Amino acid sequence: MATHHDSSEPQVVVRLEDVHKEFGDARALAGLDLEVRAGEAVAVMGPSGCGKSTLLNLVAGLDRATSGTVRVHGQDLGDLGETGLALFRRRHIGMVFQFFNLIDDLPALDNVALAAQLTGTSARQARRRALELMDELGVAGRRDTYPAALSGGERQRVAVARALVNRPALLLADEPTGALDSRSGEQVMDLLIDLNQIGQTLLIVTHDPKLAARCASRLVEMADGRVARERTLEGPDSEGVAGAALSSGAGA
Ligand code: ADP
Ligand code: MG
Repeated sequence: MATHHDSSEPQVVVRLEDVHKEFGDARALAGLDLEVRAGEAVAVMGPSGCGKSTLLNLVAGLDRATSGTVRVHGQDLGDLGETGLALFRRRHIGMVFQFFNLIDDLPALDNVALAAQLTGTSARQARRRALELMDELGVAGRRDTYPAALSGGERQRVAVARALVNRPALLLADEPTGALDSRSGEQVMDLLIDLNQIGQTLLIVTHDPKLAARCASRLVEMADGRVARERTLEGPDSEGVAGAALSSGAGA
C-alpha cells in the first residue's frame, strides 16, 4: 500500500498499529495503537503490568511484537533482522531507564563515549561529543568518576548524555525519576523539558502525574495492554527560553 505523505503534516516518528505482544500465556499488549509526531513529548501512564515497558521495548527494537506493526522513524521494525535492529537502535533511539544501566567498570565519560563509538564514531570524536553533552548536562566535572561514586541525579544525567550522544530521533524514558530523590527528580524533569524545547521527541513512561503534567504535551493512559484514554496537555511548563543552556538544571 502506498503511503501518501503530506508535507504540511508533522513527521510521524512512532506509529504502532494493532500491536499485540504475548509472553507465553501472559498478554502484555492487546491491540495497541499509538502515534508520536516529531517534537512531541508524550507521557504514558497506567497501572503496573499494563504493558508500558513492553511498549518501550518494542519501540526500541529490544523485543518484537507478536502481531501488528511497529514503525519508528519511517522503518518497519518487523522488516529488520537482529543485526539491523541493533544498528537501528544505536543510530536512532536513545533510552533512559529507572536504574540508569551504566557500565560500572567505566568512568562517566567512557560510558557516554562508548555509545558513540558503537555507531562507528572515532574514539576522539566520540569523547569530544560526549564531553560536550556532559558539559551541557552539568556533569562534565564528573568525567573521570565511576558510576558507583556518582549521586543518583548525576548518574541519570550521565545516562541522558549517553542516550543523546548519537542525536537520536527519539528519546525513550522508562520511569526516569523513579529511583531519584525529589530534588534530583526535579532536575531530570527540567532536563527533559529543556530537551523537548529544543526539538527532541520524547516518549516517557511514568507513574508520576507531576512529571507527566510538567514534561509532556500529551498524556496516553494505558490499561490492559492498550490505550484507554488520551488527552492533550498544556505542554512543558519550562521557565527557560527555548534553546537556552541545558545545564540550567533546576533553574535555581
Ligand atoms: P508495566 O511496565 O506497565 O508495569 P510490563 O510491560 O512490564 O508492564 O508488563 C506487562 C505484562 O507482561 C505483565 O503482566 C508482565 O508480567 C508481562 N511481561 C513483561 N515482560 C515479560 C517477560 N519478559 N516474560 C514474561 N512476561 C512478561
Ligand atoms: Mg514497567
